[in-house]
Amino acid sequence: MNDDVSSHPVFLMRDHKLLVDLSSGVPRVPDRSVAEEFGLSFADGYRLGPLNGVDCYALSVTGEDEPSRGMDYLGLRKLFGVLDDTRYDMAVKALAILNWDRTCRFCSACGSPLRRHETILAKVCEVCGSTMFPRISPAVIVLVERHEKVLLARASRFAENLYSVLAGFTEPGETLEDTVRREVREEVGVEVGDIRYFGSQPWPYPDSLMIGFTASWVAGEIAADNDEITDARWFTADDLPKIPDRLSISRALIDWFIDKHRKGK
Ligand SMILES: [Zn+2]
Repeated sequence: MNDDVSSHPVFLMRDHKLLVDLSSGVPRVPDRSVAEEFGLSFADGYRLGPLNGVDCYALSVTGEDEPSRGMDYLGLRKLFGVLDDTRYDMAVKALAILNWDRTCRFCSACGSPLRRHETILAKVCEVCGSTMFPRISPAVIVLVERHEKVLLARASRFAENLYSVLAGFTEPGETLEDTVRREVREEVGVEVGDIRYFGSQPWPYPDSLMIGFTASWVAGEIAADNDEITDARWFTADDLPKIPDRLSISRALIDWFIDKHRKGK
């Protein structure tokens, strides 16, 4: 961790990976002077916010030039728990904004090229005047409890033997609570109530916002849809299967359940 006030990090990304300095043995976000080595101007980047009183920027590296001086590009999953929270959150924001910048280039109304808005995080069509904001796709993630047990499911896209809480994207016209009820019903055939907000997590792969909830079983026996979900079961806190790592809000939800039910044991 580098909290030297003279250090002003810059977030350079290529192919969804962040440029980090590995020369000290621990990955750190390089100083802004490195942007000059790549011939990049902050005017072409996006402001992420201040750190130690100085604005930090996100910039895309497009060339194939290899980074110098013990630097390399690492995926953000590898940097979770390695960078401090402030820098990690900035890297997540950088990934989301630069991905939007790369993929949102033409007006979705008339097909004309877009230009960046001067003052806000948006792009403008000079032909029809439409304004395009970065897309954020809300998805719910929900831990369902039944007495002392938690509902965990194996999704077909998961690594082998991994079980987690249920998740799904919000559809037009739904409240987040509607999404929770529909997803749980569709994926495992269970009705839930007492839906409570837990927390949220930006998930820039590519543009999700994960919104976490807890809920209680109301009715129905588990019947996995055998499409997205291949198996689902009730587990106690002392008999859990393989669960996700600490990176995700799904793990935070499961840890909340474990803490609640293992207390005093
Ligand atoms: Zn247009």
